[in-house]
Amino acid sequence: MAEKRDYYEVLGVAKDATADQIKSAYRKLAMKYHPDRNPDNPQAKEKFTEVSEAYEVLSNPEKRQRYDQFGHQGVDFGPGGFDFGRDFSHFQDVDLNDILNSFFGGAGGGFSSFFGGGGRQRRQAADPNAPKRGDDLTYRLDIEFDEAIFGSERTIDLTIPGQCAECHGTGAADGSKRVTCKTCGGSGVVIGGSGWFQVRQTCPNCHGEGSVIDKPCRKCHGAGQVATPAHISLKIPAGVDNGSRLRLAGKGAGGLRGGENGDLYVLIGVKESDIFERDGLDLMVDIPVSPILAALGGVVEVPTPEGAAQLKIPAGTPNGKVFRLRGKGVPNIRGGFAGDLDARIMFEVPSNLDRRQRAVLEEFQKLASPGTFPQAQTFVNKTKVFFAHKEKLAKRANR
Ligand SMILES: [Zn+2]
Ligand SMILES: [Zn+2]
Repeated sequence: MAEKRDYYEVLGVAKDATADQIKSAYRKLAMKYHPDRNPDNPQAKEKFTEVSEAYEVLSNPEKRQRYDQFGHQGVDFGPGGFDFGRDFSHFQDVDLNDILNSFFGGAGGGFSSFFGGGGRQRRQAADPNAPKRGDDLTYRLDIEFDEAIFGSERTIDLTIPGQCAECHGTGAADGSKRVTCKTCGGSGVVIGGSGWFQVRQTCPNCHGEGSVIDKPCRKCHGAGQVATPAHISLKIPAGVDNGSRLRLAGKGAGGLRGGENGDLYVLIGVKESDIFERDGLDLMVDIPVSPILAALGGVVEVPTPEGAAQLKIPAGTPNGKVFRLRGKGVPNIRGGFAGDLDARIMFEVPSNLDRRQRAVLEEFQKLASPGTFPQAQTFVNKTKVFFAHKEKLAKRANR
């Protein structure tokens, strides 16, 4: 994957840009690259997504801070990191008018007509008191190869935006209620600008909701969520693979105003083994074998997830020969057939010989005939032909 560009660079703003500068830069770029304006232009669509992603992060003070501190890793998920349900696909569904309306609080008319929008009706604002489901969270967990094969149990400690116990996710203090916003009189919109140039803006006090909590909860300051430590026991089933996702229902971010909690997804990263190579459900293992044993035939021991298997190899087994052990691969997490295990014979030349061993091998070497090593014999014959050609050609050249 290509290196991600710096979000500030994407929007063409300085690191210390104000929220307004970021908003204005995004607006310009979003209109320039919007898919509606660039039909059949995949590059524009890519740009649009990139710009939207940068804006999504930099327009959110919490995410921006995390990004400033940790870079892309702070807002992407990495080991032990979080993914706060980042899904930019919804930006594609937003049309130009909605982009404009979101900036000007355009309750009909507004600026949209300047851009040929034709006074599209603003979408009904969501009921600010409606229950809202908590975000899904993703946590990345790296496990050992053996844990993935055999299954294991893990506990993870993390901090999630949990439901505030004080207000049960309403954000309101006891006995408090929502009251009409004094700044905008309930419309959610304020008129700004000067002279002939007037701009409708989302009310900064109520963020367009038209109402505010008269007494916010003291513990969560009205957010309905507080940073909550979570201690989670996790059963890792045998057979998980790199990239497997385990879903823990209701363990994600706390729901707001009676909404249910989001889910927690544990994204599994599996470390490499120093014995096996894994490909899906199949395993491959190199078995060091004595060439003498391979010549005589015999039994070699092959490690499998079920234990050591005895593999009979016939006399004359060549180096590199692969024996497939069916069903001895990785257990199937879905309960189907397990994968296969390929055991590859890798000759190990005898070394550290003592006197007797050496004597026996010397004896053997004396007894060896050309037929004992047929490949070597064929090779010798081929090189004879090669050198004969050399002589013939040299003679011809000297003539
Ligand atoms: Zn609270
Ligand atoms: Zn207001």
